[in-house]
Amino acid sequence: MLQVGALRGVVALDGPSGTGKSTVAQRLAADLGAHYLDTGAMYRAAALGVLRDGVDPADPAAVSATVERLSIDVGTDPGAAAVTLDGLDVSAEIRSAPVTSVVSPVSAVPEVRTLLVAQQREIIGTAAGIVVEGRDIGTVVAPDAPLKVFLTATPAQRAQRRASQDGVSDLDVVRRSVEWRDRLDSTRAASPLRPADDAVELDTTELDATEVLAALHELVAQRGLLVVVPSAPRGRP
Ligand code: C5P
Repeated sequence: MLQVGALRGVVALDGPSGTGKSTVAQRLAADLGAHYLDTGAMYRAAALGVLRDGVDPADPAAVSATVERLSIDVGTDPGAAAVTLDGLDVSAEIRSAPVTSVVSPVSAVPEVRTLLVAQQREIIGTAAGIVVEGRDIGTVVAPDAPLKVFLTATPAQRAQRRASQDGVSDLDVVRRSVEWRDRLDSTRAASPLRPADDAVELDTTELDATEVLAALHELVAQRGLLVVVPSAPRGRP
């Protein structure tokens, strides 16, 4: 009978956009039979709700009043993590340019963070093993996570990755957008983007996703976060 390792506990994966967090977080969770939580998708769904309501993203009181009324749900299956807003699947729409352009001011509103962090902690609390990606997972959402990794890469490399992901050819435009979002995320008063004191920092500039994934697998094993579970013998149900 084969023995495979399954994740127990929380892996917190933080870092700015374009560091490859989503790809490796999903793959790590799938490899380890774990849940996966994309907290950025929740902030994006909140930003979409703000846009739909025609609310000014720079008006914190109006933004928090709108977000309080929204019902945001995220799936935690790493193979199919759908996001719904008021019951409708918005998984594709939350990646659109208009949402990307307002998500940082919306997520800087403290009341928005309080609401979504509570929801994130609830999801994490029900999972035996989960890989959580975001900006404040190691510092605020799951400060007791047994493994925290902070991914970095040069701004040029991050812009390049974003551009090829989004199919945009003007690198300068993407780079300015990435840098603007990073600046807002890192300088906001509420839970700014920064590595936790006990996070492992991993520079992904020269690494592809497979190499980053290998490094994460090694860290998970080193921290003793794998439990051995017997898998069904081949040919038997
Ligand atoms: O990860 P993604 O690029 O989809 O995140 C979109 C935005 O959501 C970030 O730029 C940031 O403003 C916000 N965010 C956050 N805290 C998180 C995850 C995302 O503020 N934990």
